[in-house]
Amino acid sequence: MKPSLKTVPYRELTLWLEQQGQPRFRANQIHDWLFAKRAMAFADMNNLPTTLREALEANFTAFSLKPIRKQVDGDHTVKWLSELGDGKTIETVLIRAPERDTVCISSQVGCPVCCVFCATGKMGFQRNLKSAEILDQVILASNEIGHLVSNVVVMGMGEPLLNFDNVAAALVMLSSKDGLGLGVRHVTVSTSGIPEGIRRLADTGYPWNLAVSLHAATEDQRSKLIPPRHRAPLEDILAAMEHHSEVTHRMPTLEIVLVNGVNDSPEDAARLANIAHRVHAKVNLIPCNNDSGPYQAPPPEKCNMFLRHLISRKIQATLRLRKGKGIDAACGQLHSKSTQPPDTEELP
Ligand code: SF4
Repeated sequence: MKPSLKTVPYRELTLWLEQQGQPRFRANQIHDWLFAKRAMAFADMNNLPTTLREALEANFTAFSLKPIRKQVDGDHTVKWLSELGDGKTIETVLIRAPERDTVCISSQVGCPVCCVFCATGKMGFQRNLKSAEILDQVILASNEIGHLVSNVVVMGMGEPLLNFDNVAAALVMLSSKDGLGLGVRHVTVSTSGIPEGIRRLADTGYPWNLAVSLHAATEDQRSKLIPPRHRAPLEDILAAMEHHSEVTHRMPTLEIVLVNGVNDSPEDAARLANIAHRVHAKVNLIPCNNDSGPYQAPPPEKCNMFLRHLISRKIQATLRLRKGKGIDAACGQLHSKSTQPPDTEELP
């Protein structure tokens, strides 16, 4: 597979250009196309000589995804299935709202954590995404709307902190002025709770937002939802979150997928409130998205009651609307179906 030109260091690019008999300023032009103009093909770089575009094409890739399917839901959610250079596929979701456009990007093909209610987890783990494959999902969604998206959440397929180096490299390209230039406040990394990764994230020097999907507030409940291999002790996760807050001065988010009869009682809400107080976190409640099998969303009145319990304990909490459900683009649904629903557009 040819390397992505986005990941070739600037100095190496200038040396390569010299070998091609090209002036150094071409490196600036190329970076401008790759990042500021979000070009998806060398052929689009029309201020470069044809011979240079051909040489670039022969040695590098400008864009690492081949979108092969696009689905649009009535609530302005767009989901892409994209093929990677080795034929594996990932999904990316754009959620449009009047005040912001948020893209939810994948970090792995499948996921090694294998939470019991999650469609991605059922795929097992295939491989880590490379940094350009992660960043190019942002470019795909931004080009759909004609401008850079306003928010990025690393919450699609995969556990981002088990692919730390590639995710961090992609986010540096996303947030740096020489890259896409999206402010760190508009980027959120969502993890199932990998303590070492949370600490490393804090220590990058980029104060991206942190969201932790605890799934439940006791070890016993978590053991029913997360297989042991990547399930860290709650205490280690909370200590890592405290480290992240101390370093970044950011308020973290606790995400809880509410599962009927598993983690949705008033006692669960009280325990969660205690944890949220300890780590100074807000809480985002997400009703489980499965429509079949043993893991179901609680009835809406139970979700609302859980929310009210948290708010009565002075926790900043929200209950997430289930956007994108019609095209299986909601949390825990990515890559859950290989069949083609009727609202699908096959891309050329
Ligand atoms: S919920 Fe997140 S961490 Fe758990 S299996 Fe799904 S993608 Fe992986």
